[in-house]
Amino acid sequence: MARYRESVCRLCRREGLKLFLKGDRCYSDKCAIERKNYPPGQHGQGRRKISDYGIQLREKQKIRRIYGLLERQFHGYFVHAEKKKGITGKNLLILLERRLDNMVYRLGFSSSRNEARHLTRHGHFLVNGKPVNIPSYLVKINDVVEVREKSRNVARIQESLETAARRGIPNWLELDKEHMRGRVRAFPTREDLTMPMEEQRVVELYSK
Ligand code: SF4
Repeated sequence: MARYRESVCRLCRREGLKLFLKGDRCYSDKCAIERKNYPPGQHGQGRRKISDYGIQLREKQKIRRIYGLLERQFHGYFVHAEKKKGITGKNLLILLERRLDNMVYRLGFSSSRNEARHLTRHGHFLVNGKPVNIPSYLVKINDVVEVREKSRNVARIQESLETAARRGIPNWLELDKEHMRGRVRAFPTREDLTMPMEEQRVVELYSK
C-alpha cells in the first residue's frame, strides 16, 4: 500500500503542531517543532493569509496525519461516520480511535501509531485470543488485545511499554502491564481525545 515516505517531521511543521509521529524523539529536544516551528519549504517563514477552505483543508490533513491514513481511507471513515447516528465529526474521531493500531499505541505497546501498524501487520497481537493482523480492525467494548506469547520479548514492544507511561492510558482502556494485555472498558468519548482537533471543519470540507 502507498505510504508517505518523506520525513514525518515535515508533516508536524506543516500543521504547526506536534503530531507525535516519531515515538521517543517527539519528547526530546531533537523534535523538529521545538527547533523550527514554521512550515517547511522556501516560503515557510513568510506570512500567509489563509481562507476558510484552507483552514478546513489543514484541519482534515492534520487529523488524517495523526492517524497515518491515506486520503481514500480517511474519506471512507467519514462516509462511515455520516451513516451512524449522532454528530458526524464526533463519530469520525471515535471510529479512528477504535482502530486496532491506535489501541496498540494507546496501550503503550508501540511508541507511535506508525510502529503500531507495523507490529500489527507482523502478527504480534491477539484480539480475544485470536491473531489479528489488520491495523484497521475496529475494537469493541470488552475486546481484549494482548501481545502474543512469542512476541513478549520483542525489544520494540518492551521498550515502548517502559517509556509509554508518560503518555498515560486513556479512560476507555485498561492495561494489565504484567500480562501485556489491555481491555476496552467503553467506547472512547470526545473528551478522551486531548489533541487539538476541530472535526467540524472536516465535516464542512467534505460537505461542500
Ligand atoms: Fe513531530 Fe515527533 Fe518529529 Fe517532533 S519529533 S516534529 S512531534 S514527528
